[in-house]
Amino acid sequence: MTTEKVRLENLSPSRAGDFKTCPQLFYFRAIERLPEPTSVHQARGTTAHLALQRLFDHPLPERTPDRLFDLFREAWTEIRGDDEFGGLFADVDEERAWGVQSLELLANYFSIEDPASFDPEDRELDMTEDLDGIVIRGILDRIDRDDDGRLVITDYKTGKAPPERYALPAFFALKIYALLIRKRTGETPKEVRLLYLNGPTSFRLPIDDQQLDAMDVQLRALWAAIERAMATERFPARPGRLCDWCSFQPICPAWAEVAS
Ligand code: SF4
Repeated sequence: MTTEKVRLENLSPSRAGDFKTCPQLFYFRAIERLPEPTSVHQARGTTAHLALQRLFDHPLPERTPDRLFDLFREAWTEIRGDDEFGGLFADVDEERAWGVQSLELLANYFSIEDPASFDPEDRELDMTEDLDGIVIRGILDRIDRDDDGRLVITDYKTGKAPPERYALPAFFALKIYALLIRKRTGETPKEVRLLYLNGPTSFRLPIDDQQLDAMDVQLRALWAAIERAMATERFPARPGRLCDWCSFQPICPAWAEVAS
């Protein structure tokens, strides 16, 4: 394990979450930058995000399920030739079945909110902010203004919704985005929302300055811990439920010990 040539220039909310969950996973992703195979679920997530973003390019009355389905098909046609999606399906029938399941998932979106009833404040927002020495970088799905004119941050999820009592960790990245929005605009968002198409359901978390101040402190502690890990070249593996989905399990030291 070597971190000699790597300098941490910025941190994304996702990588911050990785380090918090398992420093070894952070090492594989952020330091070694090892490639990970794309799953059919990730392909669905990427395509659905594109379609949902583009839905709001259309006038209010055209934001219908059929339009969203067309946007999904168009987006997949655009990106299916990319290297990362190569070899995902054994044959055309498998790809078609995946497409049908994807459209069923997208249909759920309309039971969570009505896109014809509002215009987002912004979408696919590049959030790069320097929090007094710590540069955080990420892409925010969507930001809206509610009826009271307050900002609401929204993130789409195509994975299965967890039971509500386990949803809190999923808000970690969104609270970071709320902090970045406060830094950029001077406004404290009113809430963050996770829209799970595979539920379908939405989870909301009200936000206040106290929470964001606490997140700021937490991020600084996390950054310092990452710098310590890089200086000492120690990124301990922290096995847990995530291991079942971790593509690095075959090379993970924690699992090598289990196997031996
Ligand atoms: S397999 Fe588990 S312990 Fe190993 S890197 Fe992945 S998440 Fe961490």
